[in-house]
Amino acid sequence: MAGRYGVVLHGGAGARKSRNYDQEIVHMKGLVEAARDQLKDGIPALDVVSEVVRALEASGLYVAGKGSSPNINGVYELDAAIMDGQNRAAGSVAALVGYESPIDVARGVMGKTPHVLLAGDGAAQFADAIGYAKVTDPEAYYTKAGADGDHEPGSLAHGTVGCVVLDRHGHLAAGTSTGGVFGKLPGRVGDTPIIGAGCYADDRVAVSCTGQGEFFMRGVLAYDVSARMHYGQATVEEAANAAIHTTLTNFAGDGGMIAIDAEGNISAPYNSQGMKRAWATSDGEIFSAAFEA
Ligand code: ASP
Repeated sequence: MAGRYGVVLHGGAGARKSRNYDQEIVHMKGLVEAARDQLKDGIPALDVVSEVVRALEASGLYVAGKGSSPNINGVYELDAAIMDGQNRAAGSVAALVGYESPIDVARGVMGKTPHVLLAGDGAAQFADAIGYAKVTDPEAYYTKAGADGDHEPGSLAHGTVGCVVLDRHGHLAAGTSTGGVFGKLPGRVGDTPIIGAGCYADDRVAVSCTGQGEFFMRGVLAYDVSARMHYGQATVEEAANAAIHTTLTNFAGDGGMIAIDAEGNISAPYNSQGMKRAWATSDGEIFSAAFEA
């Protein structure tokens, strides 16, 4: 249907049944309602994705931006990516240290450089040159959301945020931002900033992933959704379910993804205990939850 629009976000598939996510559920609902109103006003998908992911990062409630945890050396190395489905322009940062909003820096890489991915010191030098907001006192700034103990060492326990949007002009965009997995090695980069693995958008579908990134990279799972739809004529629901419940599950990995297609159909499968997720559509649908109803 022409003019249909929708926004979907996730706050990570690391949700555990032992925890209560009432605060996150209210927060996510507020964000998708505000984003839906922006879409109604004709704001482009890419701008809505940036704004939603920036708000998720700034909240300190999820393992991304302010909510991130450090690597084993105590350094906060963050990853993020953004992609415009209209022209498949993309930007990402990997192992970025010292900046409040990795999604803003990723968008800067997309718009202000000829590159797609900047990593480590180079990403920080770029962020400094443009003047993005810095984190001057990491121990005071970061909230370590979700890092409350019951993670096995080496278990790749994790959290992330992401957003996918179809705007009323028919364009799609995706963004993903993360502090990565708990207790990661210095220099570890997950799927989030790897275009096609943890984030992908074209004119068919927009996808943002969350989970044990190593498996999303090996399965190229965000792009896999588009490929299944393109080459196999799968629906977004079939494609996303196959990526999570077949490929990821066969790897014995855990996680989930959110996806929206060019008709506004939404899919948000996960094989983990839960996935914080929310959406709002032009049809009036509103949803926000961490587990099954
Ligand atoms: N995929 C992220 C990573 O591996 C973590 C997550 O989504 O929870 O860095």
